[in-house]
Amino acid sequence: MHRIGIVALVVLVAGCAARRPMPPLAGPSSAPVMETPDRVALIAAPVEGDWKALGDEATALLSQYLRINTTNPPGNEIVAARWLARVLQHEGIEARIFEPAPGKANLYARLAGDGSARPIILLNHMDVVLVSPEFWTVDPFAGVIKDGYVWGRGALDMKGEGIAQLMTLLILKRARVPLKRDVIFLATADEEIGAGVGAAWFVEHHGDLIRDAEFLLNEGGTTRANGRGGVDYYGVGTTEKSPFWLDITVRGTAGHGSRPTPDNPVHRLVRALDRIASWSGRTPLVVTPAVERYFRDLATIERDSTQRSWFADIRSALRDSVAVRSITGDLAYNALLRNTISITGLKGSDKTNVIPPVATAVVDVRLLPGQEPAAFLAELVRVVADTAVTFRPQGPSWPATESPADTELFRAIVAAAHARHPDALVTTPMLAGFTDSHYFRRMGIASYGIAPFPLTQSDSRGVHGNDERISVAALRFGVRFYYDVVARVAAPKASTIVGPHDERL
Ligand SMILES: [Zn+2]
Repeated sequence: MHRIGIVALVVLVAGCAARRPMPPLAGPSSAPVMETPDRVALIAAPVEGDWKALGDEATALLSQYLRINTTNPPGNEIVAARWLARVLQHEGIEARIFEPAPGKANLYARLAGDGSARPIILLNHMDVVLVSPEFWTVDPFAGVIKDGYVWGRGALDMKGEGIAQLMTLLILKRARVPLKRDVIFLATADEEIGAGVGAAWFVEHHGDLIRDAEFLLNEGGTTRANGRGGVDYYGVGTTEKSPFWLDITVRGTAGHGSRPTPDNPVHRLVRALDRIASWSGRTPLVVTPAVERYFRDLATIERDSTQRSWFADIRSALRDSVAVRSITGDLAYNALLRNTISITGLKGSDKTNVIPPVATAVVDVRLLPGQEPAAFLAELVRVVADTAVTFRPQGPSWPATESPADTELFRAIVAAAHARHPDALVTTPMLAGFTDSHYFRRMGIASYGIAPFPLTQSDSRGVHGNDERISVAALRFGVRFYYDVVARVAAPKASTIVGPHDERL
């Protein structure tokens, strides 16, 4: 991919030669600036020179944000929410903080548009997963900036994207960009523990605040840097698999290990798990419409001619055993084509010489769109064929949700991507994991996962791993990309659209 030079795509406001108005867009700028109506009319999106300062500001903000330890549990999101509220308040944006439980918080802020279109929500979670600091080369909660990277737990998942969203709000506000739709910033708790008092709680208790929204942007996309300074792939999340985690329990007669019992629950559980394990590799292959479209898109960039023909018609390919072996041999493709089952936990006795009264296992099941949890469970019960084995879902389950790709927001994402990388593939991979988007998709809000930061394979290794970090170059790119996407869909004037940039990734 070629490198794109500096191109200011800002459409000049007619009759305005020197169109760099005040106030400065790079903050913090809280000082009141007197503006004449004429000058206000000239205020538009940032120009090339502003983006350097905005990138610096985003870097500094992310570093501060990463210093707030929101490891969940316990999360302590209230500290992050108060910090976000302060940053917003400084710009004159009021934020509301909801505290569903001690130490827990969800933050909501709204920039008003003229109401001619329905709102867009920028959703981010404030909590992060545990760290094993002994494997980190820096303190994961020090907001370290070194070697061109911002380091810390959450840099990628997802405080970095949260900062890109925050900067979008700040820039829209500072530049007084006229909006046709409200832009809502929603920072939530408890995404990483899959339950709790975050997005689910907010939707249940304060759904009225967002019910009118048309669109939502969240984590769950992939933007792949090609390692040569460009980007060749933008994956936009329109659908994701649905988790269906199960506890499996077998009861039997406890006893001494030296006198085997016929109904040792561990033996019985192991037999059940053996049937599940062998079935896990044989669950039916299913091609959902989104996955079919995704493979067709992949075919356009696939270099290997055999793979290309398989991807172009994945349904036919799956009737060919050679193709099936090859395609499902790829862990990522396999997960897109079937319900998956991973046995992940086992518990019997704590002591070698004691037969326990109960043995348990936990199983991570992920269901494709269109699959009913109850129907899958019935199938699993049939496979195990042992009435002594009981299955219990760990939490609420839901059929996988999907948002249409034929929307103004989707087109805005495609336009922003192609403005930067005309040859990049913009496609809709199904996420094998899951995000909070399903809560909003079920309300009828078209919700997309986008990844503002182009990452190489090795860059993304830090997500839930060690030495999580984001390059300052990717952060700069992402802040500008995010603003561009939101401006395209929320601001009716072309003058707010920003084009490519010169950041080498
Ligand atoms: Zn996340």
